[in-house]
Amino acid sequence: SVGAGAPDKVVTTTCSYCGVGCQFDFQVNTKTNRILRVTSNPQAPVNGMHLCVKGRYGYDYIHHPDRLLKPRVREYLLKGEKRPANGERGPWVEVDWDTALEIVARKLVEARDTYGPDSVGILTSAKCTNEENYLMNKLARQVIGTNNIDHCARLCHSSTVAGLALAYGSGAMSNSMKDVAEKAAVIFIIGSNTTEQHPVFGAMIRQAVLKRGAKLIVADPRKIDITEFATLHLQQRPGTDIALLNGLMHIIVQNGWQDEAFIAERTENYEAFLENLQDYTPEKVSAITGVPVERLYQAAEIMGKNRPMAVIWAMGITQHIVGVQNVLTLANLQMLLGNMGVPGGGVNPLRGQNNVQGACDMGGLPDVYPGYQRVTTEEARLKFEQAWGVALPDKVGLTVTEMIPAAGEGKIKAMYILGENPVMSDPDSNHVRHCLQTLDFLALQEIFPSETSAYADVLLPGVSFAEKDGTFTNTERRVQRVRQAIQPLGEARPDWMIIQDLAQRILGQGNRQVNPEAPYGKWNYTNTAQIMDEIAALTPIYAGISHARLEVGESLQWPVRSKDHPGTPILHVGRFTRGKGKFHPTVHVPPAEQPDRTYPMVLTTGRVLYHWHGGEMTRRSKGLMKVYDRPLIEINPEDAQRIGLNGKRMVRVSSRRGSIIAEAWITERVPPGLIYGNFHFPEASVNELTLAALDPISKIPEFKVAAVRVEAYSE
Ligand code: SF4
Repeated sequence: SVGAGAPDKVVTTTCSYCGVGCQFDFQVNTKTNRILRVTSNPQAPVNGMHLCVKGRYGYDYIHHPDRLLKPRVREYLLKGEKRPANGERGPWVEVDWDTALEIVARKLVEARDTYGPDSVGILTSAKCTNEENYLMNKLARQVIGTNNIDHCARLCHSSTVAGLALAYGSGAMSNSMKDVAEKAAVIFIIGSNTTEQHPVFGAMIRQAVLKRGAKLIVADPRKIDITEFATLHLQQRPGTDIALLNGLMHIIVQNGWQDEAFIAERTENYEAFLENLQDYTPEKVSAITGVPVERLYQAAEIMGKNRPMAVIWAMGITQHIVGVQNVLTLANLQMLLGNMGVPGGGVNPLRGQNNVQGACDMGGLPDVYPGYQRVTTEEARLKFEQAWGVALPDKVGLTVTEMIPAAGEGKIKAMYILGENPVMSDPDSNHVRHCLQTLDFLALQEIFPSETSAYADVLLPGVSFAEKDGTFTNTERRVQRVRQAIQPLGEARPDWMIIQDLAQRILGQGNRQVNPEAPYGKWNYTNTAQIMDEIAALTPIYAGISHARLEVGESLQWPVRSKDHPGTPILHVGRFTRGKGKFHPTVHVPPAEQPDRTYPMVLTTGRVLYHWHGGEMTRRSKGLMKVYDRPLIEINPEDAQRIGLNGKRMVRVSSRRGSIIAEAWITERVPPGLIYGNFHFPEASVNELTLAALDPISKIPEFKVAAVRVEAYSE
């Protein structure tokens, strides 16, 4: 318990950490306005009574004294002065909401009307609700007039969305977690540290192996915890997934284990795919990946002889310069084996943030309106122009990985960022800091001061998920309610109210005219259910979703095409979204940066069980910090000896972009030549080292491979 008093209210809501979407009860004392504890709710559709350590104990950040409780603006703005020329922003001053919002509105209008709408960049938030993400999409497109809107999905699953859209016509998890855990004969996990990053689903997979004998194949460069339960662990070198998968498919075809009927009836471009496979002989694949030939045969046989197989992946597949090609290769595998559109099968990308699926669904992306309706399609554009009462841009906007460099080049003049911390989460932090410093104006809406707020001109205090209403959509496309448990702390306000207030102020200014008589031209919502009704009216995959249906206990997975449609637990049954599934020949391309004499080791990056992304919330949770309070660099004992660690604890890790000093964890989890680190702690974030090499289609950075030098460090 973090507060005084006994609980006098119970509020059922959805976890704000990962995409599994566990539900639980907040035990609240309304007099002290405090959350006292989290308890399980047996009705929770995904997790029942289960919760992981973050969901059960990681909520005390909500009451942390660092919370932003009043808007802040830089003193130079109040004095009507120019920003200091050296890029410094000067001291903060606490102000009332009117003052802060007037400044943000004026500055965004100034940039829009002086340099054009595309000089403004907007980052929305996968931590916020669907309703808030919809409003951010509407603010960017209707109010500012730009498609420059993106969010952290760019950094995690943009390659999944693009790859699956090319292969199948839509880019989301095809099956449900329960379905995989209960019905898959084989579970193939590649590039997902499931037990640490999606812990409740990881536990379900463990149970599937232990209780009903499901076969588990794990492909991962590290010996992650779930490998202890695996029938087979394929320890491929980072950045060799295409070779590995093509090698497995080569053996499957060699043995005739493919599903000819499925291929003939439901797919196209098979011949070109087959021809490409010829090249991936087991011997060649073994040389590229480091996986012994006999293991390739064992894995292919398990896959070929047991159906259905569910494939699960996460950042280990997506965060590469070949992220889209990796996803296409997995899409090929599941078509080859006929594992699509069936219970216990499917493609199952595990979304990271609690609402990253929803933020994508709501049009928090530069190329699509809500429901993946493309901004470049005239029909979709006309529909939204008519709904919102204004002409809309027809050109795809900038991704976050393009927007930040564009800020550095002076092309993006002003940004409005909701609940994101690019200094911690984007690659090459030094470069990110430089770019943000160059911006004319940055408004940041957050619950804590963050590493990015050093570059902000205005800080708008939003609220945690415990202080607002709305919905999140989990990794399996399930839309679930988020319910307000306590009153907003201090003068902080629910984010949807702040976005609406800002939109109303901007609509009255400058030279962009919106027709207020258009069906959805106005901004006068009094609750979040009304926002969901607007979403449903304009978004076919959400057409049947309403707060009222969720309140009576319906559990809906999109597409939900009408008010009496029951939702869609499995995608691509009988037909792919694009009609036939398309095979794509894919080719192994080495990572952008290779080890050399100066930087002889490979760094791969990720997260740990006890922390969450940039760590803003979990570093402010006492229980979680007790278990993991500093960043650790995993290093193999052989390497530790080679660099002369000799019982010392600290290492300096350097890349071409920067260097960090952190404690080493000497462990066999990583093979010789590979180290692993996380980006949870600003004092030693691996993003000081990572590089911004991008996948050409999805623009996702290659967080998973960087060349580094590791040395023993003494203070
Ligand atoms: Fe929250 Fe994910 Fe843990 Fe469930 S598994 S409690 S959603 S962090």
